[in-house]
Amino acid sequence: MANRLSRRRLLGTLAGLPLASGLARRAPAAVQRQTRVRLGDPAWPSEASWDQLDRDVEGRLIKVRSPLADCVGGTPDAHCEQVFKELKNPYYLGDEVGLTQSLGWVGAWTSEPSVYAVAARTTRDVVAAVNFARTNNLRLVVKGGGHSYLGTSNAADSLLIWTRHMNAIALHDAFVGAGCAGSAEPQPAVSIEPGAYWRQAYDAVTTKGGRYVQGGGCMTVGVAGLILGGGFGSWSKAFGLAGASLLEAEVVTAGGDVRIANACSNPDLFWALKGGGGGFGVVTRVTLRTHALPEFLGGVFAAIKASSDDAYRRLISKIMEFYAQALFNPRWGEQLGFAPGRVLSITMVLQGLDQHEAEATWRPFFDWVSASPQDFTLVSPPRILSAPARQFWDPAFLEQAPGLVISDDRAGAPAGNIYWAGDAGQAGAVWHAYQSAWLPQSLLQDDQRERLVEALFAAAKRRGVSLHFNKGLAGGTAEAIATARDTAMNPAVVDAFALAISGAGGPPAYPDVPGHEPDAAVARSDAEAVTAAMNEIRKLLPRVGSYVWETDYFQPHWQEAFWGENYDRLLAVKSKYDPDGLFFLHHGVGS
Ligand SMILES: Cc1cc2nc3c(=O)[nH]c(=O)nc-3n(C[C@H](O)[C@H](O)[C@H](O)COP(=O)(O)OP(=O)(O)OC[C@H]3O[C@@H](n4cnc5c(N)ncnc54)[C@H](O)[C@@H]3O)c2cc1C
Repeated sequence: MANRLSRRRLLGTLAGLPLASGLARRAPAAVQRQTRVRLGDPAWPSEASWDQLDRDVEGRLIKVRSPLADCVGGTPDAHCEQVFKELKNPYYLGDEVGLTQSLGWVGAWTSEPSVYAVAARTTRDVVAAVNFARTNNLRLVVKGGGHSYLGTSNAADSLLIWTRHMNAIALHDAFVGAGCAGSAEPQPAVSIEPGAYWRQAYDAVTTKGGRYVQGGGCMTVGVAGLILGGGFGSWSKAFGLAGASLLEAEVVTAGGDVRIANACSNPDLFWALKGGGGGFGVVTRVTLRTHALPEFLGGVFAAIKASSDDAYRRLISKIMEFYAQALFNPRWGEQLGFAPGRVLSITMVLQGLDQHEAEATWRPFFDWVSASPQDFTLVSPPRILSAPARQFWDPAFLEQAPGLVISDDRAGAPAGNIYWAGDAGQAGAVWHAYQSAWLPQSLLQDDQRERLVEALFAAAKRRGVSLHFNKGLAGGTAEAIATARDTAMNPAVVDAFALAISGAGGPPAYPDVPGHEPDAAVARSDAEAVTAAMNEIRKLLPRVGSYVWETDYFQPHWQEAFWGENYDRLLAVKSKYDPDGLFFLHHGVGS
């Protein structure tokens, strides 16, 4: 949530911008803005009212206290040092009602605990909390996995609906949505409560169930949270957006009604849930299509350093040519990174190729690198792995591979609480900058690719930029593309071969905690470097589209960037289901 400083900065930023023609034409939002009651206001609910809410939710109302509260304004002590150590564990963060996975964004927001939280276990709990917030005109936030980069799952002086304990998962052989009998084919699916995180879903669907469900790459991201932004998995070019596999959702809307949203009931709400960025109600259950599991899943990892600018240009040119010719298809996802120091990092994943096929695919590229030892050094030699797909999220298997995953090290932590080592730096992070832009597939054509290479070269001089190929659907299956078109995500995603991302952040930090304050000077210079790098990329683009869940807090023209021509339709859905803006989100539809 924006503090005063950030609002000033944001308004200042917007004031200096010419209005995009689409925005200038747009009619004023039909969603009413409300001033909400804050703690200390005369209208703040009485103790007796809170007690009644506690009874309504069967004792599941929590008075929230952040573990950081004792450290703010204090002197460093062993207790706070232990808290700061724990802040690097995503499972600790997820289990704390008063914390979020990111602790803030310098100049934008700081993670603030709510005053009260309903630790919901049932849809009835959610209905009671929504009704209480609406009747008392309170700020209301919803938190699942807590991974929002924009801070949209926390707010000071608010009531929180915390779904962490709503995490039941049930597999179906032949699911038909309510009211869809006769008009929809029964299909294999999984119903998941909103507070489950993706590792739990993969454990049930893949490790135990032998099937595939499209979810996020990060194991601790919340299931409902990812779906609401559209959601990319490592193999979205093969299996589509996570949001596009939504068959049905149960939603509590602002009036306290429990609605089923699917292709046959409330289809407008159903569509908006698939990538509209949330703010349409509280999702209490999702049912997602499952797919046959490929035989193999795996990855290719390496890092290569070039000895000169000229060699680095050739390296970028070669890898992009190789990508266009060999990897621009549904088999491959994830990332190539280009960073200062003339480094190319390869973190690619594969599906449906065995070890021999994976090695054969990459041999021409690595042979080319090895042929010029004077130009290229393998700082991290290639590791190519392909394994039976059922093992891909199996903790027993993953823990055998050195450095791949980290285990939750708290005493008594559930067995299997693991996370990718590559995601470790994001736990408890304070962001300095984060920007993204979709890149159209035309940039891969022979006559365009050198422009792309030059932009990547120039960007990498300023700051690391990664191309996330799984976050653009061009090159994907016809089904992945067709189902994405039926979501609220910016249609630019289907013509994009990748999402370019550049970001920067610091370790766990919090204002006024001695020795652990965010570093404003570093944050400023990081933000400048990220902007400079992404400006090199944006020069390639006639229109900038950005992924709502992985974007800039200060994204200009955000309605157009996140949703393109879908924004007005989303606004109509928002006005219908939440006309008073009970579910307010920074850069949310109607905000
Ligand atoms: C380390 C990391 C890795 C990531 N990896 C990926 C990735 O691989 N692919 C990808 O697409 N994205 C990824 N993301 C982005 C991620 O999908 C979004 O941040 C997502 O919103 C997180 O959902 P959450 O439930 O964990 O977060 P929260 O902060 O709890 O929720 C995010 C938003 O959704 C709303 N929300 C959550 N649950 C509900 C509900 N039940 N009903 C209504 N609203 C709800 C919240 O109010 C908030 O606005 C990643 C983020 C991080 C930090």
